[in-house]
Amino acid sequence: MVQSRSDLSREAIRRGLAELVGPDQVCVDEDLLRASSVDRFKKYQAVNKIFAGPIPAAIVSVTSSEQVASVLRFANDHRINVVPRTGFTSTEGGLETIVEDTIVVDGSAMDRIIRIDPVNMMVTAQCGVCLEVLEDAVRSEGLTTGHSPQSKPLAQMGGLTATRSTGQLSTLYGGIEDMIIGLEAVFPDGTICRVKNVPRRAVGPDIRHVIIGNEGALCFITEVTVKLYYYRPENNSYRGFLVDDMDAGISVIREVVTDGFRPSVCRVYSEEDAHQHFADFHKDKCVLIFISEGPEAIVAATVAEIDSVIARYPHEDVDPARIEMWFSNLNWGMDKIIAEQEWMLKEHNLGYTTEISANWSDIGEIYKAAMHRIRTEYPDAGDLTMLGAHSSHSYQTGTNLYFVYDYNINCAPEEEITKYHIPLNAIIVEEALKHSGSMVHHHGIGKYRTDWTEEEHGSAYYMLAKLKQTFDPNGVMNRGTIFKA
Ligand SMILES: Cc1cc2nc3c(=O)[nH]c(=O)nc-3n(C[C@H](O)[C@H](O)[C@H](O)COP(=O)(O)OP(=O)(O)OC[C@H]3O[C@@H](n4cnc5c(N)ncnc54)[C@H](O)[C@@H]3O)c2cc1C
Repeated sequence: MVQSRSDLSREAIRRGLAELVGPDQVCVDEDLLRASSVDRFKKYQAVNKIFAGPIPAAIVSVTSSEQVASVLRFANDHRINVVPRTGFTSTEGGLETIVEDTIVVDGSAMDRIIRIDPVNMMVTAQCGVCLEVLEDAVRSEGLTTGHSPQSKPLAQMGGLTATRSTGQLSTLYGGIEDMIIGLEAVFPDGTICRVKNVPRRAVGPDIRHVIIGNEGALCFITEVTVKLYYYRPENNSYRGFLVDDMDAGISVIREVVTDGFRPSVCRVYSEEDAHQHFADFHKDKCVLIFISEGPEAIVAATVAEIDSVIARYPHEDVDPARIEMWFSNLNWGMDKIIAEQEWMLKEHNLGYTTEISANWSDIGEIYKAAMHRIRTEYPDAGDLTMLGAHSSHSYQTGTNLYFVYDYNINCAPEEEITKYHIPLNAIIVEEALKHSGSMVHHHGIGKYRTDWTEEEHGSAYYMLAKLKQTFDPNGVMNRGTIFKA
C-alpha cells in the first residue's frame, strides 16, 4: 500500500468531485469501489471477493474533455492519485489502486462516434467507444479499422490506445500505433492537447507516441482517430497446417513475412497450446495458421506464397473450415468472463499469459529457455496443468511469443499471485531480456513488470523518466504503473 499524499480527506475528495461534475457522476458504492481496486491480474482474488489493497475514494464518470481537465487539475492541486479507466479489461495491474484514496476516472460514458470519413479513410471516436461498436458501425459502411484484439467486445478506444494494444490481424494492419492518425489527451495540469490528423509530417518528433502507450501514467486520452480500410470478408482465405515443432512454424512465418507478404494472421501454436484449441485434429503436433484478406489478387498472391513456402517443410494440411470456425470463436465477451469466473471458483484452477517479442534469430532460444526453466527450476511446476506458447504477431524483423500457463491453486487465494503468477511471469521476462528481446509485446507494463522497466529501456530510460517528470511532476497519474511506485 502507498500512503496518500493528499491534503484532503476521503470525504473532502468526494465533496470536491461532486462540486466539479455533479453528485450523479461520482460513485461511492462500496461494492463497486472494491471491485475497482483491482483488475484481471488479481482475477482470482476478485472472484473470491478478496480486496486487500487500498479501496478508491470514488469513481468519477466523465462526459467531456473539459470535465477530465477539471478533475485532473483538482487531483493535481491536491496530490490525489488518479487511475484512468475505460473498458476495464486490463490484465497487468494497470487499474490497481495502490495509493490510498485514489480517484478512478472512468471515460466509458464518452462513447460517441464523432465522424466516419470514407473519403479520407478515417474514423474519430471518443475514448469510451467500445471497439466492437466502432467496428460494427464502420463495417455497415463496407469499411474496417483492422483492429481485432481478443478483447474487442469489451475494450474501449482509450484503453486500447493507452496500452499500445494489438489485434489478431496485426501482421497486415499493424498495432494501434500504426492505426492512429491523431488524438486528444488531457494532462494533469488540465492542458488539453490535440494532435491533428494528417497522413504524415516531418515537424519534429512524432508526439503521438508520448500519448500512445502511456497506460494512464502521463495523461488521459479523450479522443482517437484511426485509419479505415475496405472490408472484404468474401475474399478471406483460411489455411492451416500441422508442423513438427515451433522452430519449423516460426521459420515458415519468417519466410512468408520477410519475402514481403502480409497475411492478416500468422500464428504457430506449440503442441501443448494447440491442444487447448485444436484437440480433435492436432495429433500432438504444432498448428500453423495463416489468414489472408484484402483485394482478391493480393489474397491469391499471398496464398500462393504460403503454399510455396510450406511445400519445403514436412507438414499435413488442416481443413480450412476448422480454422475459420476456430477464428470465429476467438474473442472474449462477458459470457466467457463469467464462465471463467465459475471455473475458477469450482476448480481452483486458472490461466494467465505473458507476452514478449524478439528478433527472428533470438525468439526460438527464448521459447526453449523459458519452457526449460519453468519445467526444471520453478518449485511449483507440479501444479501446472498446461504450459505452452504461440507466436501470433509477426514483423519484418521478428515476432512475438505469447506464453500461456494454467495451474491448480494449492494455497490461500491471497497467496496465488506470489506463489504462481509472479514467479512464472518473472522467468519469461528474464529470458526475453537475457536474449535481447522486449519484456512486453502488447499488454503494457502495468504494475507487475516495473522491476524491469529500466533494464528494458537501457540508456533510453533517461527519456522515459523525463516524460514522467515533465508531464506529471506531482506523480498523480496512475502511481506504480510503468514506473516503480
Ligand atoms: C479476454 C482478454 C483478451 C485480451 N486480448 C488482447 C489482445 O488481443 N490484444 C491486446 O493488445 N490486448 C488484449 N487484452 C488486454 C486488454 O484488453 C487491452 O490491453 C485493452 O487495450 C484494454 O482496453 P480497456 O478499454 O479495457 O482499458 P482498461 O482496462 O480500462 O485500462 C487499461 C490501461 O489503460 C489505462 N487507460 C484506460 N483508459 C485510459 C484513458 N482514456 N486514458 C489514459 N489511460 C487509460 C488504464 O489506466 C490501464 O492502465 C485482452 C484482455 C482480456 C481480458
